[in-house]
Amino acid sequence: MWYGYAGQYAIVDLTTGQVSKIPLTEDMARKFVGGRGFIVNWLYERVTPRMDAFAPEMPLIFAVGPLTGTIAPSSGRWTVGCKAPQTGLITIGIGGGDFGAHLKWAGFDAVIIVGRSLRPVYLMISDGNIEIVSAEHLWGKDTTEVEAAIRAEQENWNIHVAAIGLAGENLAPTTTIIADRARSAGRGGAGAVMGSKNLKAVAVYGRNAVPLYDAKSALDEAARMTRKLMTEAHFSTYLEWGTTYFLDRYTQAGGLMSFNAQRGIFPDWREMDGRVYKEKHWRGRLACYGCPLPCSSYFQVEKGLRGGTFGEATSASTLKELGARVGVKDLRHILDCHVEIDRLGLDLISAPATIAFAVEAFQKGILTKAATGGLPLEFGRGDVVLELLRRMARREGIGEDLAHGSRACAERWGKGSDLLRTDSKGLEPPATDPRAYPAWALGYATSSRGGCHMRAYSVFEFGGVEEDQAERMGVPMSVNERLEWRGKGRGVAFFEDLRSLGDSLITCRFVARNALAFPEEQVGILNAVTGLGFTAKDLYLVGERITNLERLFNLREGLRPEDDTLPKRFLQEPLPDGPSAGCVVPLEPMLEEYYTARSWDRGTGEPSADKLRELGLTEEYNGEGETKP
Ligand code: SF4
Repeated sequence: MWYGYAGQYAIVDLTTGQVSKIPLTEDMARKFVGGRGFIVNWLYERVTPRMDAFAPEMPLIFAVGPLTGTIAPSSGRWTVGCKAPQTGLITIGIGGGDFGAHLKWAGFDAVIIVGRSLRPVYLMISDGNIEIVSAEHLWGKDTTEVEAAIRAEQENWNIHVAAIGLAGENLAPTTTIIADRARSAGRGGAGAVMGSKNLKAVAVYGRNAVPLYDAKSALDEAARMTRKLMTEAHFSTYLEWGTTYFLDRYTQAGGLMSFNAQRGIFPDWREMDGRVYKEKHWRGRLACYGCPLPCSSYFQVEKGLRGGTFGEATSASTLKELGARVGVKDLRHILDCHVEIDRLGLDLISAPATIAFAVEAFQKGILTKAATGGLPLEFGRGDVVLELLRRMARREGIGEDLAHGSRACAERWGKGSDLLRTDSKGLEPPATDPRAYPAWALGYATSSRGGCHMRAYSVFEFGGVEEDQAERMGVPMSVNERLEWRGKGRGVAFFEDLRSLGDSLITCRFVARNALAFPEEQVGILNAVTGLGFTAKDLYLVGERITNLERLFNLREGLRPEDDTLPKRFLQEPLPDGPSAGCVVPLEPMLEEYYTARSWDRGTGEPSADKLRELGLTEEYNGEGETKP
């Protein structure tokens, strides 16, 4: 009998229409725990080297963790993964809302989708069954419309839907998958992979509670973790502002990436920060399933570019990416573009980042009006951003180039546009300027999916780790100093593994942000829920195993150690003004420290044989969670 887990996963072949249910093995649960761990394992097993991301055989995998849908704090989250068309590397995204909890309650730990349907379809998952339903009438609808339509035709308003918009239908690589209208996951083009399968949506509705091994202990542990969370410095700030308060932080450090990273200061930031948002547009708090920290909110724009509109899930990313990065200070326009991105199913980071890149290219004469279809590209024009987003989703005119991200644009446009890029490994990082945050910078460079802050999420530069935590990490307390680089190689490697584990349990970054991210804090509730008797040491190894297996996947796809880098702008162009003026990223010494901490070879980028043995990932590893005898 399984506790915590549903105990089975499904393989859905959209070419044949066949649905197979497969029991989960205990070995798999122990080695990879769930979510991101399950996904990397199955991708490693099923994706042959250099398989086209849009090949019908490419698996698109949704998975949840043992804590999903239980009493554990922030347990509504879900993961989705595949090979990313934008980067050619692995991508595994983590989304919020209620979708994850319902997938578990519907009876599945994961769904592996392969093949390609001849006609548009969606999956209806409930009561241990998966039905493939025609979605021809949904093709062309946006992600919010799809949810409403599926709920109406299934006559069930408690269904939760993960869908693609126009961008995913048109196979634009800068897409994600949007659940619960505004919860995005799968940067690098998971939405396009879903579109390539003619799969418009995955709808879930679950009613079966997850059996707990020791319900009283699970309740006690959940209460203890919640009390601990409430003592953490970020708790009250997140409660009040969500992550919108980060605009202040970034500005104080001179690290608010503005005007395509030409500056680290956005002069008009006070016109669009969290305070203005709260006063003018905030309409109520919003939480994902089972979360004691409702950091999200609803908003309204009364008169904007889309007329009047409602939206949800504003975050620091909304303000940074659609504000400072593209130079827009009108908060109404920023929020309008946020709604448009969610409805089109575009990536909230890569889409505006590519637009910012194009605007600078236009400024510098690399792009002309002839190339933009007469559209003048200027920083600060919310209407232009909105128009470009629509063209990206339709892959129309200049939108065809932009839809592929900035690395692909630079390859097409030439003329020195390469120097304006902000991406790592083809994926644009968020608009937190790495020149002001060395650990953040290293995380962008080493992330398994390209420029991403979520792989490491090294919060020690934003509030610090305690002495006992620094000791466990094996780093000096100076890692808390923002511009110090020493200790950050080891610190980033350590936090990457913590996040690999957290994404497998699954817990939210904002709840398990500092102290609660450590396995010593999570092992109690995991054992109370599953009864599997993990130790904290087991969990450290699980995190490290997942990070290393993602590395092996990427190496097999052709990744080289020299790809663990940042674009020239961050390495050679100092920030021109603000508190971090003169800073570039001291990448080399941090990388040296990082590779040593990981036991990865500096010449080949490969994990050492000893490390692979320690993690059970030797050459005999067969990708099924088991080592061949
Ligand atoms: S902290 Fe915010 S994003 Fe995380 S689970 Fe809670 S409501 Fe969702």
